Amino acid sequence: MTSKTTSISAADRERLIEAAIQAKQFAYSPYSKFRVGAAFLTTTGEIVKGANIENASYGGTICAERTAIVKAVSEGIKSFVALAVVTDVKAALSPCGLCRQVIREFCSLKMPIFLAPADYFERKANAKEDGDDGVKERTLEELLPDSFGPEDLELPRS
Ligand SMILES: [Zn+2]
Repeated sequence: MTSKTTSISAADRERLIEAAIQAKQFAYSPYSKFRVGAAFLTTTGEIVKGANIENASYGGTICAERTAIVKAVSEGIKSFVALAVVTDVKAALSPCGLCRQVIREFCSLKMPIFLAPADYFERKANAKEDGDDGVKERTLEELLPDSFGPEDLELPRS
């Protein structure tokens, strides 16, 4: 569960988190004033970014994670190896329940999800001393245990 034992390379982890931070700058969040950036790493090494896009009709709001995954899938990309998420708060926050379910549709339960704090760069610079850059690593299965997914629809029915 520490940042040392990731299933992607340290270099990919770093560029994925940086991409999520870059994505956050394009958040459209005039109502919540809560910016979120997300970035998916694909099996081909590509990164697809997304930010939260709010709407005056609040139900039309789309989270950063779903913006990114919908962008990717609509361009024919459906294989992902990792996700990074960042907000403007110093705690490493996690995707909402709705996003977890949408991620579940396309991603392995073992896929790592990196939850980065807003002050990631400062913490990374200081991590040389304590080894902690503030990033939490979780798998999709940890965030969405006993989940319902596409394969469940294939089960025999009585
Ligand atoms: Zn969400």
